[in-house]
Amino acid sequence: MFRKIIALVSVALLHVPYLGAWGARGHTVANLSAVEAIPADGDSPTFLRSMEAYIGHLGTIPDTWRSSTEPYLRISEDANHGWYTEQFDYIPDPPRSRTEFVLRVYDEYLKTKTKDPDRAKLINIRYTGTQAYSIMEGYERMKAGMRLYRTGSLAPTYISISPIFTNPDQVKQLLAQDIAFYMGWLGHYVADAAQPLHNSQHHDGWRGVNPKNYTRDPDIHGRFETNYVDLIETTPPDVNKYVRKEARHLDDVWKAVLDHSLEARNSVEDVYRLDQRGAFTKKDDQEARELVYKRLASGASFLRDLAYTAWIESAKPIPRISPTDQPQNPDNPRYNPATGSAPAPLK
Ligand SMILES: [Zn+2]
Repeated sequence: MFRKIIALVSVALLHVPYLGAWGARGHTVANLSAVEAIPADGDSPTFLRSMEAYIGHLGTIPDTWRSSTEPYLRISEDANHGWYTEQFDYIPDPPRSRTEFVLRVYDEYLKTKTKDPDRAKLINIRYTGTQAYSIMEGYERMKAGMRLYRTGSLAPTYISISPIFTNPDQVKQLLAQDIAFYMGWLGHYVADAAQPLHNSQHHDGWRGVNPKNYTRDPDIHGRFETNYVDLIETTPPDVNKYVRKEARHLDDVWKAVLDHSLEARNSVEDVYRLDQRGAFTKKDDQEARELVYKRLASGASFLRDLAYTAWIESAKPIPRISPTDQPQNPDNPRYNPATGSAPAPLK
């Protein structure tokens, strides 16, 4: 009996995927490179450059919110680090609302649970991920912070700054720190989304049909994003060369977030192919090095673009919304009674 229990436990453990993230080095470098890519002049959040070390340091922090020692936080946080696209192919056009997405995944679970209980075990947000929503929410936090920063303590906004703090320079400094925190936090998910294996069902070993005989070993995830990044001692200058020079203003941020993930997914097979020929044990493998640099640079470029876009958008006046267009108004034609809100408007 005891032996049987041990056997069952080890089988269960074998099936618990790692679902990790770039190691400490990768996350720090991606955030540092993003700050270094903020344009030094023009209409751009240049004040963030003086907080580069803090933003770099924050790159690793969201992974410390996924520990068994803080189980409530972990449940809410784990899903934010992945977007395993094939796992929700029944939602071809993900809604512009986290809650609506959660409910659509749950509907699919209800449809499947009696027909195919084994498959149903993975039809939940833990195994679809919610990374695209954590990025959007992080971007909006940064934009809201920038709006406050622009007005500082001088003009009241719809959220008032505490009247206790009356020194405008102090208020400005506090607001700048907030934005640095939001950017560093957001950078974690943006870098995760640039890691090919965070955007595919093949996150921890190849799943399903396997004509090219790719590894099923879940450790491929860590071999690429942590061990190899450490082996080649990746630094910001390695990555900076591959960062897009021009900051982009993103017209439709949600669409850009989805595209950022899909672009990363295109390199899933590259990771498996390189692993197959043992590239991640070779310090001088040019192709493997370049894949690391390009993927981290994709995260850095996109984080910089999000900061730049948030800055431009935060200067725009707040539009007036009629009572019927308020998302929580049941008379709003886009109101979804299952979520109690209308999804975010297009663009
Ligand atoms: Zn992560």
